[in-house]
Amino acid sequence: MSDKKIPYKIYLEEDEMPKQWYNVRADMKKKPEPLLNPATLKPMTLEELSKVFCEDLVKQELDDTTPYIDIPDEIREFYRMYRPSPLVRAYCLEKKLGTPAKIYYKFEGNNTSGSHKLNSAIAQAYYAKKQGLKGVTTETGAGQWGTALSMACSYFDLDCNVYMVKCSYEQKPFRREVMRTYGAKVTPSPSETTEIGRKILAEHPGTTGSLGCAISEAVETAVSREGYRYVLGSVLSQVLLHQTVIGLETKTALDKYDIKPDIIIGCAGGGSNLGGLISPFVGEMLRGEKNYQIIAVEPASCPSLTRGTYAYDFCDTGKVCPLQKMYTLGCDFIPSANHAGGLRYHGMSGVLSELYDQGLMEARSVVQTDVFAAAEEFARVEGILPAPESSHAIKVALDEAKKCIETGEEKTIVFGLTGTGYFDMFAYEKFHDGEMSDYIPTDEELAKYRDTLPKVNK
Ligand SMILES: *Cc1c(COP(=O)(O)O)cnc(C)c1O
Repeated sequence: MSDKKIPYKIYLEEDEMPKQWYNVRADMKKKPEPLLNPATLKPMTLEELSKVFCEDLVKQELDDTTPYIDIPDEIREFYRMYRPSPLVRAYCLEKKLGTPAKIYYKFEGNNTSGSHKLNSAIAQAYYAKKQGLKGVTTETGAGQWGTALSMACSYFDLDCNVYMVKCSYEQKPFRREVMRTYGAKVTPSPSETTEIGRKILAEHPGTTGSLGCAISEAVETAVSREGYRYVLGSVLSQVLLHQTVIGLETKTALDKYDIKPDIIIGCAGGGSNLGGLISPFVGEMLRGEKNYQIIAVEPASCPSLTRGTYAYDFCDTGKVCPLQKMYTLGCDFIPSANHAGGLRYHGMSGVLSELYDQGLMEARSVVQTDVFAAAEEFARVEGILPAPESSHAIKVALDEAKKCIETGEEKTIVFGLTGTGYFDMFAYEKFHDGEMSDYIPTDEELAKYRDTLPKVNK
């Protein structure tokens, strides 16, 4: 440890920002399993995937050997508007807790989308534009991805169609309006505008929707329209790749002050922010250079890593997307409507799933009232109102820092603070009014969905 005084905020210079993304798959001896075509059960080819996704992004998706991939100048220019993001030393929180632990968080909420999602949105919009497309379609759950993509599309002058999970569309009208401010077309999902939407509505009238279902609608719209492709805000390896700007900046900032983290924590929905944060560190682990304790935090109501199965599954309820081997609860799993804390996806990034399976990462699930209590504890001393998703990571960071009070260990904890929670005040209100409950699916419920996993023998 150097004796340089560590500032509250470690900022990087613009020229210290990453010029390349880091592809952790290149350093994995055992790679994630390939995406499969559900009809043939053969690995998806570039041609097949290019019907749905932009071609350059498909190349990134299929590339598990190139360790560093150049970030195009146009994307780096956009990054410069809101990056580098600060790595904050949580001195005030440490003091309040009375912990000997040293706590840092990488704050990604400093842009209008309110989250890290813009890091990948701008990359995906860039490649869509480069390919000469008219526009893109996507889904959004809580609304951060849709907002980020709207911003990215308006920057590159692309048409943006967003299917928004119905319960969020209703609970978060302001997010919807931000998207419309950036020129996006927002449709609540399931909707009558697609075949799969109509089918789901007929089978489950009154459903509040799910990410899996919104994905199916967005894909259907993309493939049935000339000049459109589908883009996705999480789960895919390309998204995780773009999000490595988080981890690369974090590592550069820590290295500047000779800080070595003991524990790295992130919330995990589809796994993109966590994957992006940990990639450079996991790379060191994979190359046998260093060791870290890495913790993925997920909601107890949607526990894909801690209670799911590592198997091939569909990425979407409509079963139109390729099969991916991942930790999954089953593509028909829809988290309880009372779950307010985001991270509602049934599966997990294939890269993270494989790292978890190899024992390079652990996972914990937390209940939402504990998450909101942690959010409040954090907000009151650190001055940032955190997103419920991010607060899953806060909860475990607090747990670990509190353990250090008992053991006297001076552990260095780094966690990803993925975004702000200004649009989540209905959830905070429920929490404050004591109306928030903790829903944990039973083993029987989970078994029911597990039985619907596709029978893929591989
Ligand atoms: C989308 C989102 C997440 C979860 O997505 P990942 O792909 O798992 O990173 C976490 N925090 C915020 C603020 C988000 O918007």
